[in-house]
Amino acid sequence: MHTVVLGLGGNEGDRLFLLNEAVNGLLQEMKLVRASAIYETEAWGGESLSPYLNQVLVLQTKMDPEETLACIQQIEGHLGRKRETKWGDRTMDIDILYFDEAVIHSEVLQVPHPQLSFRKFVLVPLAEVLPEYIHPLEKRSNKELLKRCKDPLTVGVYSDG
Ligand code: AMP
Repeated sequence: MHTVVLGLGGNEGDRLFLLNEAVNGLLQEMKLVRASAIYETEAWGGESLSPYLNQVLVLQTKMDPEETLACIQQIEGHLGRKRETKWGDRTMDIDILYFDEAVIHSEVLQVPHPQLSFRKFVLVPLAEVLPEYIHPLEKRSNKELLKRCKDPLTVGVYSDG
């Protein structure tokens, strides 16, 4: 069994419904170990304007990294993700943040996710679910990475009401 850590986010449509749909899709294929709270984050980068909902999941899977990527891309596709703009609005984006302690630099996969240490919307939920996990390249814990992160965007726990 492998432990995979996924970052989920979306800022289009019924964000909470789509996040739940993505989690349900993942749980068809993988076993949930831990889920962070759902966070709301100002949009990151260029053209996006609406705030995102973000969540980090720790899962167990028998799939290898490429199979895991294919699985998350199928779920993204199912949820109608648009791929026209790199940093544009999206119904659901799922990233592999960590895969065991693996370091992968292939054509299709970079693990740990290369943007992870620069994004508070990833580090805040990561530090909630895996505070002491050591990033295999940075050699720092998620908690330390969050403390050092200069990302100015506000990330807060999402409350539905
Ligand atoms: P994005 O638009 O940022 O979701 O990027 C999607 C592309 O990034 C996919 O075609 C993947 O092959 C590639 N990719 C590279 N590393 C990762 C990763 N750790 N998690 C998810 N997608 C990745």
